[in-house]
Amino acid sequence: MIAEVIVDVAAYPIDRPFDYAVPVEWESVMEPGVRVKVPFGPRKVIGYVTGIKTESELESDKIKPVLEILDLEPVLSAELLELSRWMAAETIAYEIDALQVMLPAAMRAKYEKIMRVIKLEQLDEAFRKFLGNREQVTLKQLQDAGLLSGAKKYSKEGIVQIDTAVQQKTKMKKVRMIHIPDTEHLEAALADTHPNAKKQAELLRWLILHPSSSLEASEILNQSGVNASVLKTLLDKQIIEQSQVEVYRELDAPKMRDNGKPEQLTDEQQVALAAIEQASDRQQAETFLLHGVTGSGKTEIYLQAIDHVLKQGKEAIVLVPEISLTPQMTARFKARFGELVAVLHSGLSSGEKYDEWRRIHRGEVKVAIGARSAVFAPFTNLGLLILDEEHEATYKQEESPRYHARDVAIWRAEYHQCPVILGSATPSLESYARATKDVYTLLTLTKRAKQQALPSVQIIDMREELKAGNRSMFSLGLAEAMRERLERKEQIVLLLNKRGFSSFVLCRDCGTVVECPNCDISLTYHRSTESLKCHYCGHEQPVPLECPECTSEHIRFFGTGTQKAQEELAKIVPEARVIRMDVDTTRTKGAHERLLYDFGEGKADILLGTQMIAKGLDFPRITLVGVLAADTSLHLADFRAAEKTFQLLTQVSGRAGRDQLPGEVYIQTYDPEHYAIELSKTQEFEPFYELELARRRQLGYPPYYYVTVVHFSHEDVLKAADYAQKGTSFMAERLSPSSFIIGPTAAAISRLNNRYRYQCLVKYKQEPALIPVLQQLLKHYKTNWAKDGLVMSINREPTAIF
Ligand code: ADP
Ligand code: ZN
Ligand code: ZN
Repeated sequence: MIAEVIVDVAAYPIDRPFDYAVPVEWESVMEPGVRVKVPFGPRKVIGYVTGIKTESELESDKIKPVLEILDLEPVLSAELLELSRWMAAETIAYEIDALQVMLPAAMRAKYEKIMRVIKLEQLDEAFRKFLGNREQVTLKQLQDAGLLSGAKKYSKEGIVQIDTAVQQKTKMKKVRMIHIPDTEHLEAALADTHPNAKKQAELLRWLILHPSSSLEASEILNQSGVNASVLKTLLDKQIIEQSQVEVYRELDAPKMRDNGKPEQLTDEQQVALAAIEQASDRQQAETFLLHGVTGSGKTEIYLQAIDHVLKQGKEAIVLVPEISLTPQMTARFKARFGELVAVLHSGLSSGEKYDEWRRIHRGEVKVAIGARSAVFAPFTNLGLLILDEEHEATYKQEESPRYHARDVAIWRAEYHQCPVILGSATPSLESYARATKDVYTLLTLTKRAKQQALPSVQIIDMREELKAGNRSMFSLGLAEAMRERLERKEQIVLLLNKRGFSSFVLCRDCGTVVECPNCDISLTYHRSTESLKCHYCGHEQPVPLECPECTSEHIRFFGTGTQKAQEELAKIVPEARVIRMDVDTTRTKGAHERLLYDFGEGKADILLGTQMIAKGLDFPRITLVGVLAADTSLHLADFRAAEKTFQLLTQVSGRAGRDQLPGEVYIQTYDPEHYAIELSKTQEFEPFYELELARRRQLGYPPYYYVTVVHFSHEDVLKAADYAQKGTSFMAERLSPSSFIIGPTAAAISRLNNRYRYQCLVKYKQEPALIPVLQQLLKHYKTNWAKDGLVMSINREPTAIF
């Protein structure tokens, strides 16, 4: 038997299966989808078995054997193996990357350099003492003991050997279980116990009083009050036995509560659900775009549609953007489906993620909720896939494999012949265009579920405020509206739009902005440490006291952060209790949920935060939403800037007036005439969609054209430009004339981490040659250009071009 193995080495010529011989005794266990340890050159690496065959083209003495099988059950199904091939091809990624991204990080191999002793007698005293009776130690251990250089010398002399060891990061949590015989045996043991052995007798009596076939050792010790040595004596006497049992880590129970009862659907909801259920009953792969205004009851439809497929014995995947940000949502699913739900989110430790993955893999749960990578949940009988807030950019992974969760979901739905729901109040232009062309089925919810009106929206021109002498971040209108809410004991959400906005340091005399020495980007001011940081490369420096250009002392922090907004709030409405939510206040585990929970409990009047508060909140007492600096995100060098701004404004407005009390929204801006801002006033998607679509057509952007961007970076600016030119010509010579090739141009961030960046943009409607040409380019780069220090990356359908 020969196993085809994709090895864990991401390098160009290696990105194909290699043949390994399967020792006869393992033939019954060897299957596609299991992980193995194999020799690769001088190394030992982890690999994934992607196929089994009986013959190899290689001569049999060239075929090395599999060294170890790491899984008894495949960790990747036939479906996921096929998906990985498709994904690697579509995104121009290595197959190994496509395989690894499907598994929890804890299952990926960790490689560690170790030192193995060959000639013990030739080691000096210190070394031998350090080793004790160990035959091998890690380089890290050597380093810590200060013996690294000695080890290097020994290695040259052949006294020790330096090797790479593969380590499994996976850790199953285990507990010590005590297995207890029946009462009869315990009574007999008690009768046999020496009268002086009082503690042993005490433990036996306790066990007799608490009949159970097995108990956790820690529980016995805690409750019986005897100490561990007594337990050990009984173990030594073989009266009881013990074993290590694998358990799941307990996740923190959600704080948010939900009654878990399905709602009586509105007519609109009913129509939408019926269409989804029909597709499901017909076992038909169909993609639905569920376009419903904020609060229209999309989530309720998800819940009832899932209920439907669970009744058919099938499983469902629900993707939400960064689930840790929506504890309310998790609580709703847990309340409805209880133990059948696994939650995969970034707030979990890698061990917790691994446990959730195993519960799915073993079929113990039927619903998986999570961020992007949950789309790979190892279900085998999928009945439904859902992407909530389908327009969110976080569904696209921006590192290899650069996949979009939407595409993967649709692929899996084809495989399982089941429906996909893409839900949003503000769909991406691409999805909406597909829905209007019947590629997706459009389902529309025009009304809020509880019949509330959408909030009324006021747009405030901040230039006028300034003219009228108001220099505060808050317009007079918004300040007044806040005071009203405080009096009525209602709640307020304030969004500081920080997208595309940084708090920078500017010289008021010469206009110099302090920039990162490694990147062409301004440094961001951090008040807590009085320092400037680069968010791209991590560079940090103190705030300068004088301008680096003109030595003026009038250099100061410019811009608005959430901290500053909070300080200003304290002046305008000193009585208000404010919860601030931004990267600083949500850094610790669980902080996010706690802050939202407190707000929901009415422990604050104002929730002030960045983008992270714009989504998913469903609190009945919020009646006012204020947006500070609505236009900052319009000025991004990104063709989606208007779309993202409109989406953000609509999302956050949707937080107001979701229950009985009517909602009001104040949008503050310096650019009130911009269509993305003007149209967010009515929160109607179609007029915005039409205008933006016309603009995209004119500029030749998605959804009219597909876009692929290729980045070239090099430490030497001339080489960067030169290779970018070569790469661009390479594509221009091979792609069809109907594709547009733009570039090479300097990237929007033209220097990052001391590397100069150029880009080439390919726009096309149909380009059958695209994937083969990109693959050739990648191959050419890997074999010829990479060794000269060039870094090239290919990104199809980027969410932003920078
Ligand atoms: P969306 O996901 O579209 O923002 P939700 O599903 O969160 O909307 O619904 C908004 C609110 O309306 C929630 O509090 C939800 O419990 C409630 N809701 C949803 N559907 C109904 C219904 N048919 N009848 C009454 N209330 C509903
Ligand atoms: Zn200056
Ligand atoms: Zn930098």
